[in-house]
Amino acid sequence: MISNANIDKNSQHNDSFQTLKLVSPLLKRLSEMQYTQPTPIQMQAIPNVLAGRDIIAGANTGSGKTAAFALPILNTLALQATGHKSSANFVSHLVLVPTRELAKQVADSIKSYAAHFNGAIKTVAVFGGVSINTQMQALRGGSDILVATPGRLLDLINSNAVKLDNVNTLVLDEADRMLSLGFTDELASLLKLMPPQKQTLLFSATFPEQVKALTKDLLNDPVEIQLQSAEQSTLVQRLFTVDKGQKTALLSHLIKQHQWQQILIFVNAKSACKHLADKLAKRGINAEVFHGDKGQGARTRVLEAFKVGEIQVLIATDIAARGLDIDKLPVVINFDLPRSPADYMHRIGRSGRAGEVGLALSIIDFEDVQHFKVIEKKHKIQLEREQVNGFETTDFEQLALQAKNNITAPAQGTGKKKRSKQPQINADIWLGKV
Ligand code: AMP
Repeated sequence: MISNANIDKNSQHNDSFQTLKLVSPLLKRLSEMQYTQPTPIQMQAIPNVLAGRDIIAGANTGSGKTAAFALPILNTLALQATGHKSSANFVSHLVLVPTRELAKQVADSIKSYAAHFNGAIKTVAVFGGVSINTQMQALRGGSDILVATPGRLLDLINSNAVKLDNVNTLVLDEADRMLSLGFTDELASLLKLMPPQKQTLLFSATFPEQVKALTKDLLNDPVEIQLQSAEQSTLVQRLFTVDKGQKTALLSHLIKQHQWQQILIFVNAKSACKHLADKLAKRGINAEVFHGDKGQGARTRVLEAFKVGEIQVLIATDIAARGLDIDKLPVVINFDLPRSPADYMHRIGRSGRAGEVGLALSIIDFEDVQHFKVIEKKHKIQLEREQVNGFETTDFEQLALQAKNNITAPAQGTGKKKRSKQPQINADIWLGKV
């Protein structure tokens, strides 16, 4: 139980967060973490969560969404007269996330925010790929906040290790993904086990219309918060065009030339991770891979090593696209374009987080042109098609047209290349700016 001294709201730890009426142990912790003021999503979400409202919140990835739901939940738990409510195998606040790494990251953030509650609030993370026994033990006596991936949570429910009958608050982090086809059955099974009367909070960077339609049955008179704003973003998006077959050469040129300390490269298939890593190795660049076929131990180790800067180049599938918080990640590169336009935003949102300057590069050849146009339309952006000296392409629109009409494009290095009408930009100059 949190003592009255600890919930003294008059202490002056942090003025801005104080306006949100958070308890003293949270204010103290936020001050230590140098959170000088709430982010816009926190400013809007926290009072509404504290007031018990349902929420559907769309805000740029990296905008502080975790604290936007974690702080008011911790605050409410701290103020409960009887202290935390965990008992038997029950859980009072459930956060569902789509990936194992996100489960751990969100739980770690919550534990960090709760550092001054002296263990009075119990947060547990459960996710697949690791021993279930340890998680069963952790759940004994219940938990105040459980952060879970749906599959492992169902396994634990089936083993009677946890019960959802007392869930007061349900948070769907990366809600669009949680409501997508891949999770439909699992989510439906879990919802049936929770009481109908509960507070539901949906957070995501993107909310496609068809996903929004699915939320009607989940939410009760929700407050809608929409904060995406391209102007506010500190992330620079760039698009490089290159001839087919030249992507790896351009990529390795950029990596060598710019010596970014950390580079996250996205490809579309697990096998493509290794394939690209091998090709980069031949060019003298060491890269590690991160995908769903790796064991959880290896996944965790690689991610930690990347986060602390021991690995410079990480090649990943979209399992790394969601929510991962890599401090000051300077650059994300789309080597393959994501199949879904929504994933474009999630991927590039790994960089430029929390107000840091970031760079998102997409490298496309003429086969990607139409697909990138779809991404641009979806996100109401339009990027200049840029070229790097030494990697100039033949005329893109022309090639795209040829492809459409089934006319064979001239083989690389043969035939007469048309001079591109697109601006020639020296990558050094613009990359140096970022
Ligand atoms: P999130 O969107 O929750 O993944 O948060 C992105 C990053 O912003 C994390 O590194 C947080 O620690 C950081 N962050 C969240 N809220 C604040 C804040 N109010 N002030 C400074 N940094 C913050």
